[in-house]
Amino acid sequence: MTKAVYPGSFDPVTLGHLDIIRRAANVVDELVIGVLINREKHPLFTVEERMEMLQESVRGLENVTVETFDGRTVDFARSHGANIIIRGLRAVTDFEIEMQMAQTNRILDPSIDTMFFTTSLRYAYLSSSIVKEVARYENTDISKFVHPCVAARLKEKLGK
Ligand code: ADP
Repeated sequence: MTKAVYPGSFDPVTLGHLDIIRRAANVVDELVIGVLINREKHPLFTVEERMEMLQESVRGLENVTVETFDGRTVDFARSHGANIIIRGLRAVTDFEIEMQMAQTNRILDPSIDTMFFTTSLRYAYLSSSIVKEVARYENTDISKFVHPCVAARLKEKLGK
């Protein structure tokens, strides 16, 4: 059985993340999404909110679950019996840091490998930061970027 973890900040989850989640869930038996607790000092959403939005967005994907974690990704993977870490690659700018992380993780635990999915072209530009930026403007249709439940939470959070 292949089990994988997909770690990230997901502040908030975007359609780009969901695309990676769906594609990864097609090639592994079980996928555990890991919402990182302490990476960013000032996330817009609390870890509970980020987790709830993910849970709602992945509803219906039978082999996908959502957890929170703190610390090293390899420890998170190990604690779930997973030997694959899923990451997404958007542009060359992602490549250097992702390669460094993947190689470090391989040294920390050679039994765990990183599997990369290249972004679908329509989401190549999309990031959580861009979504937060454009959501601040009154008349932006953010349904092109995020699941409806995330769009509603963003409106609420930003007082729109
Ligand atoms: P992190 O802070 O760990 O980068 P993110 O939530 O920003 O967390 O991203 C988690 C993962 O999803 C990363 O591997 C990132 O490259 C990938 N990702 C984010 N947005 C997209 C997208 N639009 N297309 C493909 N992969 C993406």
